[in-house]
Amino acid sequence: MQRYFVEQENVNKSSQQIVITGDDVGHITKVMRTSVGDHLISCDENGACFLCEVEQLNKEQVLCKIVEPLTDNRELPVNVTIAQGLPKGDKMELVIQKGTELGAHSFIPFISSRTVVQLDAKKEQKRLERWGRIAKEAAEQAHRQRVPSIHSLLSWKQLLAEGEEYDLALIAYENEQTSTLHAAMQHLQPGKKVLLVVGPEGGFSDLEVEEAMEAGFSPVMLGRRILRTETAALYSLSCISYYFEQLGGR
Ligand code: SAH
Repeated sequence: MQRYFVEQENVNKSSQQIVITGDDVGHITKVMRTSVGDHLISCDENGACFLCEVEQLNKEQVLCKIVEPLTDNRELPVNVTIAQGLPKGDKMELVIQKGTELGAHSFIPFISSRTVVQLDAKKEQKRLERWGRIAKEAAEQAHRQRVPSIHSLLSWKQLLAEGEEYDLALIAYENEQTSTLHAAMQHLQPGKKVLLVVGPEGGFSDLEVEEAMEAGFSPVMLGRRILRTETAALYSLSCISYYFEQLGGR
């Protein structure tokens, strides 16, 4: 069943109603050809999802009655934030779309010494809006409870400071020979927050790797081959899903 994410203020707990507005209205009425009495799923910003029945619809909004709360959980047991060195072209879109399907909790694009892309404030704002839309659509398609958040662009120094907010901060480094992602996962209990930093196309300078380690990040290898920057994040999320959702976190 189709699901739609709404802001918290659109959920009226006392009247047990949800209002859907914006682009989703066109999707519900024109694409899905939904009528009064039909059902859909709506999820709020806290990850609570509800089976809803459509009560009223017009061009501006769809008013739904909550039928029952849904209890299935499709989120990864650990919160994974992908810090992605801003890649060229539309690769960031790929990382966000596929990373959302694979369960990423959030994304932080960052600039480091080997970043080649340049974004002025106006372009950055446009990209952030587009990335947000891609994350929302991918989260709907993947039947997730929440839409990953997308942070504004950080500098390398800002990203290193951000590491303190996490239970585990990792830097994917192709020259790391021994520390595996699997070993890193073994220190992580469900519910914890992990930050995984992936370099841009040109990778990290030696100095950046040193700085990250001084800031408390642990380097991890992602297999024996050199992955493209967009593959590295998706490989990591797949491994984390496999570890926690298939092997039961062992
Ligand atoms: N410096 C290299 C490769 C960069 S790959 C070069 O230019 O030849 C881009 C990013 O993907 C790296 O910075 C790293 O974060 C990640 N990455 C790719 N393959 C990896 C691997 N086998 N182990 C860990 N990280 C990897």
